[in-house]
Amino acid sequence: MQSTQHITIAIDGFSSCGKSTLAKALAKKMNYTFIDSGAMYRCVALYALKNGCALGAHKINLSCVVSSLPHIRIQFGKPDTKGNRPVLLNDEDVSDAIRQLEVANIVSEVAAIKEVREFLVQQQQNLGKNGGVVMDGRDIGTVVFPNAELKLFITAKPEIRAKRRFLELQAKGETNSIDEILENLKHRDRIDSTRAISPLTQAKDALVVDNSEMSETEQLEYVLNLVKNHTRA
Ligand code: C5P
Repeated sequence: MQSTQHITIAIDGFSSCGKSTLAKALAKKMNYTFIDSGAMYRCVALYALKNGCALGAHKINLSCVVSSLPHIRIQFGKPDTKGNRPVLLNDEDVSDAIRQLEVANIVSEVAAIKEVREFLVQQQQNLGKNGGVVMDGRDIGTVVFPNAELKLFITAKPEIRAKRRFLELQAKGETNSIDEILENLKHRDRIDSTRAISPLTQAKDALVVDNSEMSETEQLEYVLNLVKNHTRA
């Protein structure tokens, strides 16, 4: 797609709505930079897990996480042919490790910490400062890029989201049940939507896309049309 403007596209929504899949495909099509902000929170959670800051599912030692931050360096590698960018935590490729359920089980608690959000939001703003970026997360249109030219809020039915995540994890050899995954999604949605700092909310100027009944291709076509109309306006 040819575009004269290099706009910023912010994609927010609940867990496992296909935000990253959409963001990745959109960025590839538009020759934009894709940034998965959730992967950055997952990196902090993985580091916390490996360094003894986790006290079990949904429990973390707050000061342990905060004191870890200066030791955490997150980078994204070059996209592969599918648009996937390797996620590097202190130079180690953790693209698969950050998707494990143990990480998912503490990531929302980690992401609710003020210092963690300040640490990552600053890096996210820096990564997107030149525009031409598609970033997905929970607070992209509200906090990270409140002036983004296009904001999308993605939703899908919880059971459909759990099934999608189940298939994704299964393809990676993980053996979690759908019930376990659904419980984790609901838990994260609750924490993400009710936390004191930057809760997940729909930006006033965001366009809502419910993709429950859409295939990935249909969703991409639908959103590309939104982008076309938007950049024409
Ligand atoms: O997008 P993903 O599901 O990988 O994000 C993992 C977690 O990171 C979310 O459940 C949420 O707690 C946190 N997150 C956040 N703000 C973002 C992106 C992710 O709080 N912008």
